[in-house]
Amino acid sequence: KKVIFSGAQPTGTLTLGNYLGAIQNWKSFEDDFQCIYSIVDLHSLTIRTNPEEFKESCLSMLAQYLACGINPDKNIVFFQSHVPQHSELAWILNCNTYMGELNRMTQFKDKSANHKDNINAGLFAYPALQAADILLYKTNLVPVGQDQKQHLELARDIATRFNNNYGETFVVPEIYTPKLGAKIMSLQNPNVKMSKSDENPNAYISILDDEKNLIKKMKRAVTDNEGVIRYSDEQPGIKNLITIYSKLTGLQIEEIENKYEGKGYGHLKTDLAEIVVESLNPIQTTYNKYMNAPDYLQEVYTKGADKAKELAEDTMKKVKNNIGLV
Ligand code: ATP
Ligand code: MG
Repeated sequence: KKVIFSGAQPTGTLTLGNYLGAIQNWKSFEDDFQCIYSIVDLHSLTIRTNPEEFKESCLSMLAQYLACGINPDKNIVFFQSHVPQHSELAWILNCNTYMGELNRMTQFKDKSANHKDNINAGLFAYPALQAADILLYKTNLVPVGQDQKQHLELARDIATRFNNNYGETFVVPEIYTPKLGAKIMSLQNPNVKMSKSDENPNAYISILDDEKNLIKKMKRAVTDNEGVIRYSDEQPGIKNLITIYSKLTGLQIEEIENKYEGKGYGHLKTDLAEIVVESLNPIQTTYNKYMNAPDYLQEVYTKGADKAKELAEDTMKKVKNNIGLV
């Protein structure tokens, strides 16, 4: 079976962007691929943590994965920090990644602009750790949102260069992004992507938001003065709402445009809020069930790490041998 690897950071709760851009797809691969889904907790350390809250966020993220339908009996689900090979390979890849390459990364530029008080080396080297995550498992396909495209290209460059320098070591991974929904935009600024770590909670829809909040956030979503419900680059706010609508209902863009012809934005927002509430309701119920089963969660992440370690160690042996470590 071909291998799929992906992950999300436990920096908050999953947003509709994470769900529609990535996690919803993960489930669709489980029968045809060996799927490995990590909660990339080490990546989150680029932001200072509150230890108690962080621990809770990590466990919550695992429950969110399961609630989104990731079946731990069919997929390998684990915490990145439980498999030390990630850090180990990251160092080796750091030594095979150029400062100039990392300097070009837009995520680093964006995140360092937003956290001027804590521009740490981890934030800079983040894509090398991400490359390690992927390359450890001989990954063929990485299902992610549009924002990760640049990092994926770098991971491919790192793998190719390493193979050229030290002999065939890594599988060079391909990226997979969905045709629609690969970049869900912020509800407060439809020119930037929705992010779970956005300091303004009105900018994102969390899959755990309650009904009242969902309706409020949808109502406040920034649109425009055109007054026409049309899927167009000139109306990024409305375009974003139509995208979410289409992804959640399965209706085609055109069907939605027709349905709302001559109607106001308020109408679209009210309907969409209801659709979001109904879509998230079963996820939230399942989430609560898992959060009340800490022993089960522990069993899932322990088993997941055991399986992941075995696969990761196989690659590490090869890497160490090829690079000349005794
Ligand atoms: P953070 O702000 O902490 O970086 P994030 O929302 O970007 O949070 P990540 O954990 O970095 O979430 O990414 C998890 C997955 O979700 C990745 O595959 C990423 O490409 C995807 N993703 C993130 N934001 C969006 C978005 N707005 N639309 C579609 N996919 C997204
Ligand atoms: Mg991100």
